[in-house]
Amino acid sequence: MYDVIIIGAGPGGMTAALYASRSDLSVLVIERGAPGGQLMNTSDVENYPGFDTITGPDLALKMYDNSSNFGAKHTYGNVTKIENEGLIKKVYCEEDVYEAKTVIIASGSDHRKMGVPGEEEYAGRGVSYCAVCDGAFFKDRHLYVIGGGDSAVEEGMYLTQFASKVTIVHRRDELRAQKILQDRAFKNEKINFMWNKVPTEFSGDERKVTKITLKDTKTEEVSEVSADGVFIYIGLDPLTEPFKDLGITNEEGWVVTNNHMETKIPGIYAIGDVRDTVLRQIATAVGDGSIAGQEVYKYITSLDDK
Ligand code: NAP
Repeated sequence: MYDVIIIGAGPGGMTAALYASRSDLSVLVIERGAPGGQLMNTSDVENYPGFDTITGPDLALKMYDNSSNFGAKHTYGNVTKIENEGLIKKVYCEEDVYEAKTVIIASGSDHRKMGVPGEEEYAGRGVSYCAVCDGAFFKDRHLYVIGGGDSAVEEGMYLTQFASKVTIVHRRDELRAQKILQDRAFKNEKINFMWNKVPTEFSGDERKVTKITLKDTKTEEVSEVSADGVFIYIGLDPLTEPFKDLGITNEEGWVVTNNHMETKIPGIYAIGDVRDTVLRQIATAVGDGSIAGQEVYKYITSLDDK
């Protein structure tokens, strides 16, 4: 029986592990991939205090080392369900069941899929959701990035170090990305934009994607472009499927909490990107993690006092 089980080892989960274990609680962090979460898909981080710039994977490694300094344990596992038995929470993984007094959900979010023909078929064969992982395969190629938010613009710029040209395809004629990123992208000679266009199909040969079919969102006109690779950054979906039965998510699937990171179930908390929140950043996930790490301590000591 642990004091705290943390589901997910992104920046939020690792901060909660640091705070809770430093308060002398027994902590288990369960993660189904490499520690770091979305940091592992992030090229350069330049808005996390303390670092002028640092790569996502480097920051992930530092946070991981830090999170276990006070005895928090990390284990591999794909969580499928939480059962709330009042003072005991059971966390089911595919092969194991763990018990804890409290659970912090830090499962994060996943890149949203477009859901158009060819996307699934060519995933890993020219269609990617991770510039850091796959960008280097596209030296001197013409790449397309789909989306107009921070991720599309930032990762589009990252791709220019490999690609001969990067075309950012956006469904409107104005980017959603932060102004500082927009300004840099507009100045980058390797980047151009296609406005008011959405992909309706990705096609290619048996080896890889070669073509994108696009629809103009204003005129409905259909066109085709040749593409050596496509990187899709159209937003995030919450990873909350295992927690649906708990009734703690909103209509869009994000977990609802108060300012103490408490869900409506006593002893179950949520932090970081998975939470219904106004800003999803490394810094906000870290803030959430520190609050939850402290709140579980208060909750457990209040139980011990009873
Ligand atoms: P996002 O901010 O939700 O932007 C998604 C973009 O994709 C929007 O431009 C949206 O268009 C477009 N889009 C959505 N659905 C689409 C569809 N079906 N077809 C075509 N285009 C579609 O997502 P994100 O860029 O992944 O960022 C996620 C969060 O992480 C945000 O909170 C962001 O600020 C944060 N982030 C921050 C940084 C940083 O601070 N350096 C870096 C990366 C991410 P519309 O604009 O028309 O809605």
